[in-house]
Amino acid sequence: MLPFLQGSGIYGIVCRIYGIAKEYERRLLKKLIPQKSVRSIYEIDVQALWQSGVRGIITDLDNTLVGAKHRQATPELLEWLKRLKTIGFQVVIVSNNNRMRVSTFSEPLSIPYIFRARKPGNAAFRKAMAMMSLAPNQTVVIGDQMLTDVLGGNRLGLYTILVRPIDLGDEGFFTRINRLIERIALSWMKRRGLMGWEDS
Ligand SMILES: [Mg+2]
Repeated sequence: MLPFLQGSGIYGIVCRIYGIAKEYERRLLKKLIPQKSVRSIYEIDVQALWQSGVRGIITDLDNTLVGAKHRQATPELLEWLKRLKTIGFQVVIVSNNNRMRVSTFSEPLSIPYIFRARKPGNAAFRKAMAMMSLAPNQTVVIGDQMLTDVLGGNRLGLYTILVRPIDLGDEGFFTRINRLIERIALSWMKRRGLMGWEDS
């Protein structure tokens, strides 16, 4: 670019708009990057979370705790939840799925829940923190989607942990669209060295 053209005339305006768009893109994509990514919830070092001051866990349901078509908790999940309780964590299930799905799953576990959460909107995350009486720096978000769980958590300054989706076969239309956008965002980040995926 010729220096004397910069900042003047239509060319200058176009350059500035391009610059703003690039900056916006960079900021948005950074909000999609989790603080941590693991293969499953069972890989999370919950003891270390507790030691770092975390007291509450906001967790997604479908493909995070169980597969999207799995109605009940698995024995392994029950063990994990019991462990969280023993350590002292509070847990709230925050799901974009409907009342039927979320209540049928959560009520037998006696875990408070929010259905139709409209993640990545921040209302449900705030509500969950209020239910636990915890501040953002005491709360983590666990989920399998960058565009709902991670984006929503990051926007509020919560620590976000992305897990690999348990089963991709059973997902609805919108989730599949999200996955496509996720793949594009991931390849963008990898190209810019913003995120190294552990082993995929
Ligand atoms: Mg999910």
